Amino acid sequence: SGDDELQFRDPEKAEQLTERLQALMDDIGEPVNVMHVCGSHEQAIAKFGLRSILPDDLTVRMGPGCPVCVTNMPEVDEAVALAENGNIVATYGDMFRVPGTEKSLADARDEGADVRVVYSASEAAEIADEEDEDVVFFATGFETTAAPTAAVLAADPPENFSVLSAHKYVPPAMEIVAEMPDTDVDGFLAAGHAAVITGYGLFEDFVSEYDTPVVVGGFEPIDVLFALVQLLEFVRDDQAGLANAYQRCVTEEGNVPAKDAMWDVFEAESGEWRGIAEIPDANLVLSDEYADFDARERFDIDVDPGAADPLTEQCICGDIMAGKADPDECELFGEECTPQDPVGACMVSSEGTCKIWLEYGGQP
Ligand code: SF4
Repeated sequence: SGDDELQFRDPEKAEQLTERLQALMDDIGEPVNVMHVCGSHEQAIAKFGLRSILPDDLTVRMGPGCPVCVTNMPEVDEAVALAENGNIVATYGDMFRVPGTEKSLADARDEGADVRVVYSASEAAEIADEEDEDVVFFATGFETTAAPTAAVLAADPPENFSVLSAHKYVPPAMEIVAEMPDTDVDGFLAAGHAAVITGYGLFEDFVSEYDTPVVVGGFEPIDVLFALVQLLEFVRDDQAGLANAYQRCVTEEGNVPAKDAMWDVFEAESGEWRGIAEIPDANLVLSDEYADFDARERFDIDVDPGAADPLTEQCICGDIMAGKADPDECELFGEECTPQDPVGACMVSSEGTCKIWLEYGGQP
């Protein structure tokens, strides 16, 4: 309700928490880098100007938390090829304008292909119900959207419906970032949305293996600040701990039926995350049981993209998502690359760091 929302935006509470953060930083006595892995966290931080009230030595950066941004160019090319071959391709609005090697789905639609923007996997299945043509759902997103895609596939969708999965799984990406020698992360603020499905218990192995604290946080200003306080307490105590700072939504186990359905329909496979790395077990592909609904099985997808836009080579979106750079370090930021005319995916998606930074006027 609105009251609940206000409670988590209370300026007095925010001030108490920022004072607590400052006190913790004084105790720690050296700079601390925190990485969050969620576009919604970046939006909250930018929207409420949280960076301006954080202690100077506390840096909070966004990692690979934008699923649209990590969708690899060849995956976009596959969707474009399917649309150009006369199939109806349905996808989320955020994906529509993401550049593939040569074109985006928006470009394909301008050239006459039938591309539909949908809000959910079930809406894509409804289109298949109404149309005679094959409808391919270009499915992107983390656990939060993979679970609903799985639910649609498990519920006996129309025969002319299939899924081109570009779903990704967050935990292995955190491992890759934690292993990168030039990324220095003292703690992770894990995404509350994904943890609603997977449960926070999932991070236990990560915490012990990488000796790095993880706190699951929500998306109101008080949620973010409270999670940061818990993270800094771990850092101060030199403790690789795990905490759930989003207890009103996240449990240790998560949503077990949704999680089970997800692992029935999908299996994890190694795959390239755009600009970041080849990540083991981080791409969700359809399991054998659902192969009939796998667009990659059903169609002979012939991807033969031309040469990429030379500007694309200058995009440092991958470095930004690995926590190695900020958007304003990109020479194209706000100049050649804008939301109207994006060069990289980080400028397209509402969860993309570049777009968020530009929207909130430079460094938020
Ligand atoms: Fe890539 Fe554009 Fe961001 Fe630069 S500003 S890193 S080109 S998305």
